Amino acid sequence: MADFAGRRARLIGQLAQAQVEALLVSHPINVSYLTGFTGEASHLILSAGKTILVSDGRFPTQLAEECPDLETYIRPPAQVLAEATAHVLGQLGAGRVEFESGHLTVAEHQALSDKAKAVQWKPGSNRVEALRQVKDAGEVAEIRAAIRMAERAFAIFRALLRRDDQEKDLADNLEGYLRKVGARAGAFPAIVAAGRRAALPHAPPTAQRVGDAPLLLVDWGASGPFFYKSDLTRVLLPHNNSAIPEGGARAKIQAVYEVVLRAQQAAIQALRPGVETQAIDAAARQVIADAGYGDFFTHSIGHGLGMLVHEAPLMRAGNTAKLEAGMVVTIEPGIYLPGEFGIRVEDDVLITPDGGAVLTSVPRDFESCWIDC
Ligand code: ZN
Ligand code: ZN
Repeated sequence: MADFAGRRARLIGQLAQAQVEALLVSHPINVSYLTGFTGEASHLILSAGKTILVSDGRFPTQLAEECPDLETYIRPPAQVLAEATAHVLGQLGAGRVEFESGHLTVAEHQALSDKAKAVQWKPGSNRVEALRQVKDAGEVAEIRAAIRMAERAFAIFRALLRRDDQEKDLADNLEGYLRKVGARAGAFPAIVAAGRRAALPHAPPTAQRVGDAPLLLVDWGASGPFFYKSDLTRVLLPHNNSAIPEGGARAKIQAVYEVVLRAQQAAIQALRPGVETQAIDAAARQVIADAGYGDFFTHSIGHGLGMLVHEAPLMRAGNTAKLEAGMVVTIEPGIYLPGEFGIRVEDDVLITPDGGAVLTSVPRDFESCWIDC
């Protein structure tokens, strides 16, 4: 069981320095991270004296199962969440309260201000996210489980792929396989992009058929135990495909693929604690620029991965945040040639005390891309 109380204690220890008496956590994933509760529409109030989860009548049984040691306030149906939160803050006598400015809407903030007139509200940001960046052993195990689910689903996907399949059906099927192998759901709507569609980094799936295109780009992941996610991208090349005859077109796909793979390798080799995330992006970008494709790598090298599929640290130019052991990040260089095709390869990597450990195991050499279908 995760050390939810320890996480809360770390935040409570920061309150004095932040010059507030309480912290209101409203983002559902942050609430889950700090309590173990998997429901929604609940506010966690942390203070030096007490920690109280403000929830509603749908959840008492679930709360008793998921976080039996947590004090709760179950609001009656006639009381809206802002009123209930104001009521609890009043009981605690909290004068200055920090809220999550990145998550509370303007309307929610207004409602809280109206209901808790005595409270002085102070915006804060990324306090819980900063803790979430560095994973403990249990969290890494859950990310590994989400990766295994994604990999098993992809094996089924590969085995069942047929030339007549359309992108949209394939994306739907992949989500089904993820659920079948134990995922709560896909980590995000899967991208299945054939041929020219793969030149769109986030292509929505269409009726395009696999057999009419030179390659298939698949970006998918599982939402596994306790929301932890995986996120991978692979390219598949249907064998005997008339869309890529032997010769020029095939050679170009292979050449671009090898550049992307070298860029990914350069980024992975640069990973270690203390390195700025922008240096990881630069390591991959340099390889792609040297190969003449600098204008066609149009997004950043990756992102942190955890209970959300995109979380801190963002691995992009200009970000001077430093890597720490325990972070899990994606490394996903791509080259997108409009009107032709796109290549991206994405893996999930744990930052270790002396480097990066790739957690994903789907082969990514060019030969492994070929598929009979
Ligand atoms: Zn992805
Ligand atoms: Zn990603």
